[in-house]
Amino acid sequence: MVKGARRPKSRDPPTLYWRRVSTRVPFNRPFVVGDELANIAEAVRSGQLAGVGAFTRRCESRLEERFGIPRILMTSSCTAALEMAAMLLDLQPGDEVIMPSFTFVSTASAFVRAGGRPVFVDIRDDTLNLDETEIDAAVTKRTRAIVPVHYGGIGCEMDAIIEIADRHGLTVVEDAAQAVNARYRGRALGGVGALGTFSFHETKNFICGEGGALCVNDERLIDRAEIVRDKGTNRQQFDRGQVDKYSWVDIGSSYVASELNCAFLWSQLEQMDRITARRASIHERYRRGLRSLAGQERLRLPHVPEDCESNHHLFHILLPDMAGRDRLMRALHADGILAVFHYVPLHSSPMGRTLGAGSTALPVTDDVSGRLLRLPLFYDLSESDQDFVIERVQHHLTS
Ligand SMILES: *Cc1c(COP(=O)(O)O)cnc(C)c1O
Repeated sequence: MVKGARRPKSRDPPTLYWRRVSTRVPFNRPFVVGDELANIAEAVRSGQLAGVGAFTRRCESRLEERFGIPRILMTSSCTAALEMAAMLLDLQPGDEVIMPSFTFVSTASAFVRAGGRPVFVDIRDDTLNLDETEIDAAVTKRTRAIVPVHYGGIGCEMDAIIEIADRHGLTVVEDAAQAVNARYRGRALGGVGALGTFSFHETKNFICGEGGALCVNDERLIDRAEIVRDKGTNRQQFDRGQVDKYSWVDIGSSYVASELNCAFLWSQLEQMDRITARRASIHERYRRGLRSLAGQERLRLPHVPEDCESNHHLFHILLPDMAGRDRLMRALHADGILAVFHYVPLHSSPMGRTLGAGSTALPVTDDVSGRLLRLPLFYDLSESDQDFVIERVQHHLTS
């Protein structure tokens, strides 16, 4: 127990009490790698703080070139990019969108607010990604899209998913919020479906506080995506001199990223390899440190398929059962280590149940979400803090 830490009481709701324990190793810590602050000063001096300035365009072209994506639009968040994708689909009320339940709220909410109905499909036991073998059975006459989520920066089985989508005439929107700079069979994630979405939230690999991007891989959608991002106006065409006045031409909202956020992000995109290498070495250290516990089947380590190049977004362990997971989590919190669980599956959330999504059984989702624990992982996690985490996990699982 660290000095001054308050031992959590078992009746405390787990998501609330950890804010009150004193922390030696936080779960995440925002970081700077270079010129973030100088870039912001430069943006201020340049006199453009709103959207689509020089830094925004630099971020877009860097990501387009690096990932081989025809058009990337910086947005205010990944949620905003998902909402744009939903608008571009022109969903009609009752149209169905297939997605995992084991995901962040925005994957579903973006489509629900556009009139869609989420149809939740179970996840694979190994990668915790959408189970491609269960998608066909979920397709109906109302299905319009499939939204694979690349959990922890590990790619879904995209070849199989694209094949199913093509066979049924469905659009694939990748929620690649966690998968920036990760690959599947050599292709950048976010660049495989018709559309893909990235997040630069402070908890992700490359950060700017709040931020995101829409990857437009189907070039027929590029012009309209620009309009949807800019309040339904053709302002971007006007700025490029393609039309002589700008006006309201379609649906849209205010999804443009702030130039200040892109100024911050630019520095992180310049250092993408360094950031990824650092996360890889943290991953490897956890793997080495916990290997013997995995060998004794006291926990399970993350699985990375041969076809996938991870960006090492998160490090999770699976405990044998929920009671064991909760016990370990509380013990680590008492040590000042903020290990956290992940999603409350959307099909069992109050909103998910209201949408009538609870009717299909999702056994893997239910099982895994109760046994999963994420360990601290961020750019400047020190080796000594990480070794402390490993030592405490070993201690609690063997004593
Ligand atoms: C973080 C995350 C989002 C939301 O990203 P924001 O940029 O915070 O809107 C959406 N989907 C998944 C899978 C995420 O992990």
